[in-house]
Amino acid sequence: MKTIYCEYALLGRELRFEERVYVTISSSGFIKRVSPSPPRRVDEEYDSCLLTPGFINAHTHVGDSFFKEVGFNVPVEELVAPPDGLKHRLLRNAGEDDVKEGIRCAAEEMLSSGTTAFADFREGGVRGALILRRALEGTPIRYIILGRNDGLEELLRVCDGVGLPSTNLYSDEELRRISEACRLNGLLVAAHASETVRERELAVKMYGVSDAVRAVKVLNADLLVHLTHVDEEELPLLSGRGVACCPRANAYLGVGLPPVEKMVRAGVRVCLGTDNVMVNSPDLLREMDFLGKMVRARSGPACLEAREIVKMVTVNPAEVLRLNSGWIERGRYADLAVIDLDAANVKPVHHPYQALVHRVKSENVLCVYVGGVKAYER
Ligand SMILES: [Zn+2]
Repeated sequence: MKTIYCEYALLGRELRFEERVYVTISSSGFIKRVSPSPPRRVDEEYDSCLLTPGFINAHTHVGDSFFKEVGFNVPVEELVAPPDGLKHRLLRNAGEDDVKEGIRCAAEEMLSSGTTAFADFREGGVRGALILRRALEGTPIRYIILGRNDGLEELLRVCDGVGLPSTNLYSDEELRRISEACRLNGLLVAAHASETVRERELAVKMYGVSDAVRAVKVLNADLLVHLTHVDEEELPLLSGRGVACCPRANAYLGVGLPPVEKMVRAGVRVCLGTDNVMVNSPDLLREMDFLGKMVRARSGPACLEAREIVKMVTVNPAEVLRLNSGWIERGRYADLAVIDLDAANVKPVHHPYQALVHRVKSENVLCVYVGGVKAYER
């Protein structure tokens, strides 16, 4: 049992801003008590710091971390489309040690920027999933593996669910079979959807509806990834559904930008992901900053509250990915980040949510706990 004191904290599902907070953590790594008054013993004290839930990255491909920028200026289809896009050719010919080292670097960058869990679309079937597990042995970060390629039965034994590259590659019958198998086993179903106009148009041509509609109506996915392009009429269908938006990766690849503010108004549970490490850093602080400015540029300063953006890396992905973290409350995992608000680039703080979204950098993350254990310290 240990107690952490922080001068400021974001508490509960609403990320309520509170001052002088003591969080007591059980020896099994769960939050046992959250209180404004100190217990008899306090183990760690952080003055001028903000305690936040550890961030959750809802969409990564950490396996391609070892060829950063190799595809710079390569069009998106030639870069990432399976089976023969540049990325897949490089992955097929890669040495396992290179892939593992890249995965470890990505995990280290995530922890050092406040991220305590991520959901990865892992290529390479069962072998790919096992490489990820072996790479992160002894690394305290939590992860969810959404696999693909191999037979469903084998895949579901080693993965936490399925992450389909595109619903366009599967018939309705195949999508229903995948969905049912995952549900029977209590596993997650996810798919890329409407990342590019081309993918959407192809879906309409092949199946009569967009790939986003098929991902909801046929696959019944827990998580749709991207939705860079989505028709207004489709938004009500997505209400309550998890969507991982990846605005910086979309921008890098030049495929457009997702209508995040419209999704939020439609009741979509928007999460943020950083997508392929080969094209984008897995740093959710930078993702929040980019998103915050992107929506203000497009729809004006009042279109999306900063607190809503913080929920996209905490509360929303925890609910969508069924993780017992994402907010600070008794009974949840003690996955926490301690952020220095006294740094020159942050102080004085007049608006804590805006400061977190637009000012805080990874250098301001002093300490990260996963299950109550210190997983990173600057
Ligand atoms: Zn992706």
